[in-house]
Amino acid sequence: MAATATPGAQAPPAPVGPGDLSGEGSRGLPDARSEPKQLPELIRIKRDGGRLSEADIRGFVDAVVNGRAQGAQIGAMLMAVRLQGMDLEETSALTRALAESGQQLEWPKAWRQQLVDKHSTGGVGDKVSLVLAPALAACGCKVPMISGRGLAHTGGTLDKLESVPGFNVIQSPEQMQALLEQVGCCIVGQSKKLVPGDGILYAARDVTATVDSLPLITASILSKKVVEGLSALVVDVKFGEAAVFPNQEQARELARALVGVGAGLGLRVAAALTAMDKPLGHNVGHALEVEEALLCMDGAGPSDLRDLVTKLGGALLWLSGQAQTQAEGTARVAAALDDGSARGRFEQMLAGQGVDPGLARALCSGSPAQRRQLLPRAQEQEELLSPADGTVELIHAMPLALVLHELGAGRSRAGDALRLGVGAELLVDVGQRLRRGTPWLRVHRDGPPLSGPQRRALQEALVLSDRAPFAAPSPYAELVLPPTGAQQ
Ligand code: URA
Repeated sequence: MAATATPGAQAPPAPVGPGDLSGEGSRGLPDARSEPKQLPELIRIKRDGGRLSEADIRGFVDAVVNGRAQGAQIGAMLMAVRLQGMDLEETSALTRALAESGQQLEWPKAWRQQLVDKHSTGGVGDKVSLVLAPALAACGCKVPMISGRGLAHTGGTLDKLESVPGFNVIQSPEQMQALLEQVGCCIVGQSKKLVPGDGILYAARDVTATVDSLPLITASILSKKVVEGLSALVVDVKFGEAAVFPNQEQARELARALVGVGAGLGLRVAAALTAMDKPLGHNVGHALEVEEALLCMDGAGPSDLRDLVTKLGGALLWLSGQAQTQAEGTARVAAALDDGSARGRFEQMLAGQGVDPGLARALCSGSPAQRRQLLPRAQEQEELLSPADGTVELIHAMPLALVLHELGAGRSRAGDALRLGVGAELLVDVGQRLRRGTPWLRVHRDGPPLSGPQRRALQEALVLSDRAPFAAPSPYAELVLPPTGAQQ
């Protein structure tokens, strides 16, 4: 059973057993037939609520990766899974099949304890990975982060990093090893070698309304992480109106699936439940989020972002046995932000992944205004004003994300180009007192002025109350831990 905790000075859960990615042994579902089934039959079984065997799932993933499955068949299977679900064994089988669709990464044995990673189920303004990977590297970890692109209304880490001119998310396993040796972290995407099955399904889910599926999310995230050979993984499971799952109970279910399937695959996974009703930080949009990530690495920036970065990092240092407590880990990550060492690793990572070293240096050492000159910028800015006096109760993230998507910050078709400078800056904080007519949002756009419905949707995102000003609560809610002492 996964445990829920707010860890203090306790021993981290014991490592789980070695992963069996072979698909042999008791984990595979029995498959009475020896003949592989055709795709329409596999789709029919799932459509009608049946269970797929390990061999069925491997057959489907194989057809996807080898190009034998048509787009319509992939979409139909994804929708069948979205509607009928998968049990834990099917989800584990899908995770294994996706992980084995490419190469398993292997690292020097001496790195075993240091290998950690973090992943998010996706949020609005969520630039935690950009900061956390280099911060953990500065704390002595090795972080071989395989990340994703934007999914539905949420932004993707890879897309954000590609707003830095020259940044290359495709790195071979050998290049990743060199980056881990020299920098301590890298952030890369799936490729023909790395989890190609997830790359194809991920893009298909984004355009077939099948993102919000517990087994598909679990398999997608864990397949990328299983190949990394980690000591510990923390998944940031968002809940709230702009998260894939709106309430904390559903998010906890996903957290338990991630922790449970991870344990079955030999991966020590903890899941942090964090609120996603308002955007994280002040900036939303690719280049604007890189700017804000840099601010956080200056030891400054919004407190909700810093809070998540330090707490998730603290959990990882603790779970991997590199800190005695989560609090000690949190303090070490905070120190890496404050002393500039995280930013130094970020600069090295940029240069190591294709960015001109002069540009990487200028970005990392420049002022916020200088940084803005170096990153893609939208053509126009448009401000929205507060319609009344009041205290900012909430700024709804979802309408903001949807309008920015329309303005070109998100994809409607797999492979669509993004407008990397498009985005928005929140000019106010939750809990702050506002006067009528004060600018509260600055939209960065390339196209014509915001339409009437877009302005209305954005204005309705601002919720004012008569309350006295208050300190905004932290988005961090709870940590679901892996089984204690369990050898899976
Ligand atoms: N991140 C992933 O890699 N996959 C998902 O399905 C959601 C977030």
